[in-house]
Amino acid sequence: MPLVTTTNMFKKAYEGGYAIGAFNVNNMEIVQGITEAAGELNSPIILQVSAGARKYANHTYLTKLVEAALVENPNIPIALHLDHGADFEICKSCIDGGFTSVMIDASHHAFDENIEITRKVVDYAHERGVVVEAELGQLAGVEDDVKVAAEDASYTHPDEVEEFVDRTGVDSLAIAIGTSHGAFKFKPGQKPMLRFDILDEVSKRLPNFPIVLHGASSVSQEYVKIIQANGGNLADAIGIPEDMLRQAARSAVCKINIDSDLRLALTAGVREVMWNHPEKFDPREYLKVGRQYVKDVVAHKITTVLGSEGKAPECL
Ligand SMILES: [Zn+2]
Repeated sequence: MPLVTTTNMFKKAYEGGYAIGAFNVNNMEIVQGITEAAGELNSPIILQVSAGARKYANHTYLTKLVEAALVENPNIPIALHLDHGADFEICKSCIDGGFTSVMIDASHHAFDENIEITRKVVDYAHERGVVVEAELGQLAGVEDDVKVAAEDASYTHPDEVEEFVDRTGVDSLAIAIGTSHGAFKFKPGQKPMLRFDILDEVSKRLPNFPIVLHGASSVSQEYVKIIQANGGNLADAIGIPEDMLRQAARSAVCKINIDSDLRLALTAGVREVMWNHPEKFDPREYLKVGRQYVKDVVAHKITTVLGSEGKAPECL
């Protein structure tokens, strides 16, 4: 089946108290790991591409890899989404290039400017049957080209969300409630905290409207340990506790973004083989293990965090 938009996925996720995983793709092994897990668990899924991924693998390779995944997994709905579109031009390029969803991230601009830029993308996208995610508030951390210092990060102001959604016509909204990009989300000893009060306030003001959580990797210590034991150096990598993410998935949060956890899983697999078998030089031998770990981590997310297992038929 062809790519779908996220409209029906979000409607069902909202009603059913689960969330759709949005997993970042950068190469064949990651696409395969994610979609094999989703296919076996009958879960709807969003594959998302950042500007950094387009620079690394190029638009054509990525979209063709996703097309191959559609052929291999005909029974699950898959949306293809641009993660953190920085301006109208990149959003237009992805809309014209076959994506079914784009994010315009103008959150670092002033409120009215954010609205103006977002509105322009929404107009262009909706005319072509593509949906749009925008952001209010700013997450700390580093993800590809998006870098925000902790002191510049800001929570979403709930009193701005209705006006923003009304004036932009956007289809979903990413909010900042304490998640952050990257593998070092909290300092050692710091108690991880998400502002569920802000999420509650936002969802009261936007009934039935899908909310998106960025920077929501758990930084699974299982994979950090493998990396550490095999020559890596990722001490103090800390993520969002999974019970908090599960709580968010039961609420108005319909899309949870996961990137760092995939990077860690792939790296753990590759390191494990290379560190233990310095004589090996066939890329298939270490990438195969990396791909399996990506698949394992995605399966774990679907069943334990997102709650989207078995939901493919209702989202088709
Ligand atoms: Zn993000």
